[in-house]
Amino acid sequence: MIPFLDLKTPYIELKQEIDEAISGIVNSGWFIGGPEVDQFEGEYAIYCGANHAVGVANGLDALHLALRAMDVGPGDEVIVPSNTYIATWLAVSQCGAIPVPVEPDARTYNIDPTRIEAAITPRTKVLLPVHLYGQPADMDPILAIARKHGLKVLEDGAQAHGARYKGQRLGAHGDIVAWSFYPGKNLGAMGDGGAITTNDAQLADRVRVLRNYGSRVKYVNEVQGYNSRLDPLQAAILRVKLAHLDEWNTRRRAIAARYQRGLTNCGLTLPYVPDWAEPAWHLFVVQHPERDALLKHLAEVGIGALIHYPIPPHLQQAYANAGYESGQFPLAEQMANRCLSLPMGPHLVEKSLDEVITHVAAFSL
Ligand SMILES: *Cc1c(COP(=O)(O)O)cnc(C)c1O
Repeated sequence: MIPFLDLKTPYIELKQEIDEAISGIVNSGWFIGGPEVDQFEGEYAIYCGANHAVGVANGLDALHLALRAMDVGPGDEVIVPSNTYIATWLAVSQCGAIPVPVEPDARTYNIDPTRIEAAITPRTKVLLPVHLYGQPADMDPILAIARKHGLKVLEDGAQAHGARYKGQRLGAHGDIVAWSFYPGKNLGAMGDGGAITTNDAQLADRVRVLRNYGSRVKYVNEVQGYNSRLDPLQAAILRVKLAHLDEWNTRRRAIAARYQRGLTNCGLTLPYVPDWAEPAWHLFVVQHPERDALLKHLAEVGIGALIHYPIPPHLQQAYANAGYESGQFPLAEQMANRCLSLPMGPHLVEKSLDEVITHVAAFSL
């Protein structure tokens, strides 16, 4: 069996450091907030090249609180990719605002900047690009459109820890970036976790207040906030893992290069990487006209492949009342029907990788 993602070996590799981090918290008696959360925030901000990082409970909350901090509310519109994990849309809906989908670039799978302006209305408040599959979205044109129309930019970085755009790490290209530390992400906790990074001191302060019941001083509540704090146990674990993130992303890059070499001319559409992009290779996504048969074949030979994502948000029952129809976002729908994510992760061994390549190549030819 070759699992899609091995979540046990990372712990074995770092066992001593992680065990010490956990027992440090258990023995400290600090179970909400405290020095480990502060230190992780400081280290993650530096890693991302941002002035501020604020830990929250998960990636969805990071997106939601970032939007709240930018005063997004009922009647507002937020431009989102038509192809993304539904969390991107849900964060907008949680504010009472409307997610307005824009189709991706057919090669990079990230939001197509040339299609954004047509979707802007007087109600548009924020552009919300996603760095999908760990590949940076094309930020320069997105930022130029935002400046021209007086819009804010929130980036969904949940899949892209450590990725670079034109040489600069993601973390402060837009006004604010939302991160998830869900265990399967490139920087993953041993439970839920999330953060925002930003260079804007006021936005950082707003998220800090919102995550803690709208309170800065205990029992004094400035706004109707939320309970969305980063668990110090997770912060301590994330500090250990952050020190290994670059090395683990390097391993992902080597695996991606090997897939690219081993799977050329096999009838698959392989990931396209613009020369300004340094992806974090969260996922290695291919397209195949007979995707379902390929998935079934891989399952039969014990290879865990997955679909990211089988149903685009506009066709989910959760958005049935928005009145979308099948065929309305053909690129998102094509991705849902044809894409397949091959096993990927820093602990995928060479022998398994070769086996995946052999089976995928044999099926496709
Ligand atoms: C994982 C993910 C999220 C949500 O993160 P959680 O921590 O699971 O809430 C949001 N957006 C994208 C693109 C993701 O992949």
